Amino acid sequence: MPLRLAQEWFAICGGCEVTILDVGEPLLDILPKLEIVHMPVLMDHKLFGQTGEKTEMEIPEADVGIIAGGIRNEENKHLAQEMRRKCKTLIAMGSCACYGGVPALANLSTVQDLYEKVYRDSVSTESNGIPNEQIPPLTDRVYAIHEVVPVDVKLPGCPTTPELFVEALTALLEGRTFALSGKSVCDECPLIREKKAVSALKRPLEPIEFTPGEPLNTVRCIMEQGYLCLGPATKAGCGGHDGVPRCIRAYMPCRGCFGPLSDTANPMVDMMGALASIGLDAKQIPDRAATFNRYAGAQGRLRPVPKGGKPS
Ligand code: SF4
Ligand code: SF4
Ligand code: SF4
Repeated sequence: MPLRLAQEWFAICGGCEVTILDVGEPLLDILPKLEIVHMPVLMDHKLFGQTGEKTEMEIPEADVGIIAGGIRNEENKHLAQEMRRKCKTLIAMGSCACYGGVPALANLSTVQDLYEKVYRDSVSTESNGIPNEQIPPLTDRVYAIHEVVPVDVKLPGCPTTPELFVEALTALLEGRTFALSGKSVCDECPLIREKKAVSALKRPLEPIEFTPGEPLNTVRCIMEQGYLCLGPATKAGCGGHDGVPRCIRAYMPCRGCFGPLSDTANPMVDMMGALASIGLDAKQIPDRAATFNRYAGAQGRLRPVPKGGKPS
């Protein structure tokens, strides 16, 4: 019997769905083992019935449900609850679903300020006021999926990696459990560390010193070179088969897209400690809360900045 699969997307960019396509050839082995019963990106399955005959949103029963995107409005919330009711195993796919992701940077503003900005104050907006019909009301903030319903498997990353997606799905198909690494990106980084910065913090756009093709294990730690790298406060797992973190492989600092080391970790505290330990001053970084929580602003990690107040 094929595994019945349902998928939904909430507050997202769609990049996590592209990750499913990026699986490439292994997808051909997996697809015959799946029966896709609901997936808005692929099929026109109506939530209120094919002729609009239902009064409540419904999805079919499934063995596995995958949600990409965080919860930004009441419709997302209702559908997350419906997915939980109808799916035996629920996967949060991508950092938006696991931690709020980039859309959760909106948690730095109140809902009223967001409405004002989008519908009244934006220079590109012809103001017709704030719509109040046919649009699901926003929730008071962006929520990670597990803040609203229990989640069985988390696949972080912005986007998550095709390897992790296949690994998790294969484990479910074979009845095995799937667990993420408890390590940090630094733990899997091959760059040379001497526990001392050789420069003060630089602007992010200044070029990193490396020779193209230079073996990674001869390059100095990017943060010790003075570039902000969130590797110390970010969960490992983006490296795929060779295990080398994917930005580091491209001689780029980690931006933290795999999210915090654990649900209860505080990336801002972890990064302040990591910077101080090699002699860098975190106070040089404007807007630290947003910088260190760029992908993880749900779970109350980001709160509205008071009017006229400065970002932390
Ligand atoms: S995690 Fe990143 S790629 Fe995935 S939906 Fe969110 S913003 Fe897009
Ligand atoms: S701070 Fe960045 S560059 Fe340095 S070891 Fe950690 S992940 Fe690698
Ligand atoms: S190195 Fe960091 S930002 Fe880059 S993919 Fe990995 S976790 Fe994401």
